Amino acid sequence: MFSTATTELPLLEASTDALELALGGTQADIDRARAAQLVLIAELDRRQTNTGDGYRTMGEWVAARLDETPECAKALVQTARTITPPIRTALEGGDIGYARAVETTRLHMSGVDDALEIGWAHDIAGLRRRVAAQHRLTPVDEIDSYENRYLAMQPNLDETSWRLWGQLPGYDGRIISKALSERGDQLRTEGTTLGQRSADALTTIAMDSLDNANGECSTSTLVTVFVDAQDAAPSNGRKGVKIDGGPRIGSRILEAILCDTTIETIATTTTGQLIDHGAHRTLPPEIRRTVLQRDSSTCVIDSCTSTYRPEVHHIRPRSQGGDHHPDGLATLCWWHHHIAIHGLGMTIDPSSPPQRRRLLAADRAEPPD
Ligand SMILES: [Zn+2]
Ligand SMILES: [Zn+2]
Repeated sequence: MFSTATTELPLLEASTDALELALGGTQADIDRARAAQLVLIAELDRRQTNTGDGYRTMGEWVAARLDETPECAKALVQTARTITPPIRTALEGGDIGYARAVETTRLHMSGVDDALEIGWAHDIAGLRRRVAAQHRLTPVDEIDSYENRYLAMQPNLDETSWRLWGQLPGYDGRIISKALSERGDQLRTEGTTLGQRSADALTTIAMDSLDNANGECSTSTLVTVFVDAQDAAPSNGRKGVKIDGGPRIGSRILEAILCDTTIETIATTTTGQLIDHGAHRTLPPEIRRTVLQRDSSTCVIDSCTSTYRPEVHHIRPRSQGGDHHPDGLATLCWWHHHIAIHGLGMTIDPSSPPQRRRLLAADRAEPPD
């Protein structure tokens, strides 16, 4: 047996066959060590060690003690509990590897008597498919899939972006997947990836939910903007502007807020001294209603027929002196307003007809300081 002798081989001079043999030897070492772990875990499990140490399950205890992934720890515990004597003998004798022992044990537990023989016909991935096909969801599995459900969200350091991940029971996952896909298709399909559509869909579903909870449209939601005047003024709002709750925002988001929201501004000096404050609707509600009425609450971008969450946009940005005259305002669907214009930085061609607006590509150049 080569064992872990790879480190002693003159690596560059060794033949490929010798390296392959050595690699196989290291795997045999790992398999033997896993076999030993199965014996130890079975005994620790019998002693209910996890309960004594305050862990809900043996899997969690193993994950913590071995610094292993939850999946790996769960497989160790389940295999330790259910491995049959023939499979154990095959693993300890080096006839099968650890991964094969895990899957063969699963196949046996799913009701296949001669799992070891049947297993030989498949590679590990094939074995897994065979187990999945055999698998009937037991009440315990079902409860497990609910108990392990979670959804996590984490912002990056300055909250300019968030990561989401989690695990859902099968049926719930299907519901969410279907809802996101249906909403995503309503918003916009050309030029967006499936992932981008799902992200937009989730955001708008959340906005709908907030609207329903507050009994008002989010376009009139109060946003508090904190402005550090000494930082914000010389940088055109690219520094020194924050919204309530912490996230730093750039000039684009600030423009979106100024476009169609009710804001409360709190301007301070760098030392925190209050120099100005006030709440005001960025767009008077009667003008907003007039524009929506004029455009039949439908997006005015050429060939867009969306009526989803219509918002009123200032064609000439507020920061460049755009006022609230209806001629300078356009009804846009959520996607065109929030994503295309304020997100991707496109602008409306002012010379395009009012009911058939064209978009101009984003100017990616930084505005002068
Ligand atoms: Zn706008
Ligand atoms: Zn649109």
